[in-house]
Amino acid sequence: MALIKVALPLPLPQLFTYRLDDDRPAPARGSRVVVGFGRRRLVGFAVETTEVEPQGVRLKRVQRVLDEEPVLSDSEWRLAEWMARYYVAPLGLVLRLFHPAGSTGEVEEGEPAGVPRRLHVLPAADAGAEARAAAEAALARAPQQLRVWRATLELDVPIEQAELCEALEVSPGVVRSLVARGLARVAELEVALDPYAGGEALTDVGAEGDPTPEQRTATEAIGEALAGGEVARTFLLQGITGSGKTRVYVESVAAVLGRGGRAIVLVPEIGLAAPTVARFRARFGNRVAVLHSGLSRGERVSAWSRVRSGEAPVVIGARSALFAPVGRADLIVVDEEHETAYKQDETPRYLARDVAVFRAALEGGVVVLGSATPALETRANADAGKYGRLSLPARIGGRPLPGVEIVDLAREGAVVGPGLSDVLVAALEETLTAGDQALLFLNRRGFSSFIQCTDCGWVGMCPNCRISLTLHRGTPRLVCHYCDHREAVPDACAECRSRRLDTRGIGTQQVESAVAARFPAARIARMDLDTTGPKWSHARLYRAMQARELDVLVGTQMIAKGFDLPGVALVGVVSADTALHFPDFRSSERTFQLLVQVAGRAGRGDRSGRVVLQTYLPEHFVITAAASHDYEAFYRRERQDREALRYPPSTRLANVVVSGPDESSVEAAAARMADHLRARLAAGLTLVGPAICPLERLRGRWRHHVLLKAEAPQLLDRALWDLARREDELVGAANRLEIDRDPLGLL
Ligand code: ADP
Ligand code: ZN
Ligand code: ZN
Repeated sequence: MALIKVALPLPLPQLFTYRLDDDRPAPARGSRVVVGFGRRRLVGFAVETTEVEPQGVRLKRVQRVLDEEPVLSDSEWRLAEWMARYYVAPLGLVLRLFHPAGSTGEVEEGEPAGVPRRLHVLPAADAGAEARAAAEAALARAPQQLRVWRATLELDVPIEQAELCEALEVSPGVVRSLVARGLARVAELEVALDPYAGGEALTDVGAEGDPTPEQRTATEAIGEALAGGEVARTFLLQGITGSGKTRVYVESVAAVLGRGGRAIVLVPEIGLAAPTVARFRARFGNRVAVLHSGLSRGERVSAWSRVRSGEAPVVIGARSALFAPVGRADLIVVDEEHETAYKQDETPRYLARDVAVFRAALEGGVVVLGSATPALETRANADAGKYGRLSLPARIGGRPLPGVEIVDLAREGAVVGPGLSDVLVAALEETLTAGDQALLFLNRRGFSSFIQCTDCGWVGMCPNCRISLTLHRGTPRLVCHYCDHREAVPDACAECRSRRLDTRGIGTQQVESAVAARFPAARIARMDLDTTGPKWSHARLYRAMQARELDVLVGTQMIAKGFDLPGVALVGVVSADTALHFPDFRSSERTFQLLVQVAGRAGRGDRSGRVVLQTYLPEHFVITAAASHDYEAFYRRERQDREALRYPPSTRLANVVVSGPDESSVEAAAARMADHLRARLAAGLTLVGPAICPLERLRGRWRHHVLLKAEAPQLLDRALWDLARREDELVGAANRLEIDRDPLGLL
């Protein structure tokens, strides 16, 4: 009787042994197998055959083998094994990334083949001005239907009913009533495989003209490394926004295709990468597969099979696109490599940038890490000679960088409306008069960040997460930005019953209203997570800006990403400080990156732009370095600070969090774990803690943590695996251990 070890997609470190029917050949490693586990049926992954029969258990049999052909190439298998070891994660949870379907691992029968069709909502056929007047009146007493009706007109493209209902928080019944009134239509339509496929204004890359000498130098260096074959090479491509990095990616991908190879292009968030995707499509057409989170299982399966067959040798997507079945990746581009979106915040907690470098080492591939503001780790690796350095020092066409004016909010007494200084208002005035566009940036969403009692100081807090709740207008309510807890806005203080509640801080909605009040003729829109619910909205607002149908766009950091708008002459940073106050050792780096990125959005046309940066900390080195677009100054100072405090890149970190429903039990478990670690701490390892996490309670669980600092990465392997194996004994069954290696945040 043949036996086989199976990795299950469960938070358990061990493999499980199953019986294989005699007449069946052993599945290739990495193939999906259906097995029983407890009372559930799970999709697991074949690892290896074995002769060793575990004692004292009645072995269950493999019920089905889902992949007859090998799914993972040799190097992909080794990559998965490395990830499991390095990130201290169960192999089954890692292998799941290499398969397109299923996130739960539960078996779902009857997978649809081909392009799925789903219910879509469309505006009514007759939506002329007269019909609209009539409809507004008819729906006056049906606010939910009114919202849906308005959304269909505003979107003006078929939108999946499920998506629309989720975004507007209405039930499908609301759509049905609207259809019954003849005010909307529904139809079974093919799901658009890719929201970028139609309607996107395609940039003709050919029309950009010849590459500049700097672009040519960079492309040639990458081309030589590609031709070098077996030897892995990683490059840092450092260049300010608008310096032409994307063109270097496109040319390098062309070189890969010319050699019959495969390329993976990673972007931080595919939903914000429309312009980048458009440029790859313009050049490579449908040889590009775009992977994004909006794809259903069926769509994912069909996209992956196009990649596997070689029909689409170029893959663009967010971090998980790194595991698309290319077999061997000749080139991996990581655009905006410093972005935190490359880190997965659940097991396996991998950082796609680092995994890309490791993948290339296994396969002899080439990696290009592009950024205007490289992560300190990346820049340090380049300085140490581990990565090649390529740079694009100037903007295309010699356009100057925008001038940045710092406005000291502490001294600037006269503030016009919430958060707008005289200087910023005057700059807006000038911009609008000249017929130009402006972006106003604020790192916070919601109308106002929290409500506070002016008598006793009480603040509305999330009962699960111990962070302040954000006030949202529209449907007025308080919302937790971590666990999505929602509650009505109280009319009295929960502590002292005072009715004097005040709103504190400002948000994008408030800035939008202030600008609208001061400039009634301006066409204003807002882009943040609240307004971009349906997946098309980001692209739609972007197109409206491009077509000059808007004058001012107010938004969170979302408006700093992927925007290339020649009409934008002014960027206003309403508050540069919010992110600096974050309790995290990377807060300076994050703020610097954000400010440089935002400032880079001004003056991408033929004129130089203007940036107004409002702050209470005008002398802070992050603010002055960002204002002078000086990465080198920032890097020198920040590198010293990290060195002094023993933070990366001068050490390697692991954050180990114990969480559970009972606070004293969590605290005791964290102390037990810290004692255990301290008793056998190797030279070169330092333990910090245990301490309560900055986010002391999250989704109903209390959280304590320890931080391990290591002189060398191998030191962490031993300590962390020892913890993982002793999890039960150290933290108890009621609590959970989360290991985050190379953490990007310590909240
Ligand atoms: P980055 O990716 O560094 O932000 P882009 O590649 O987007 O820079 O280039 C900035 C702008 O310059 C884009 O509008 C792009 O179309 C244009 N551009 C890029 N390379 C060239 C070139 N060689 N000649 C003319 N225009 C170019
Ligand atoms: Zn009170
Ligand atoms: Zn919460």
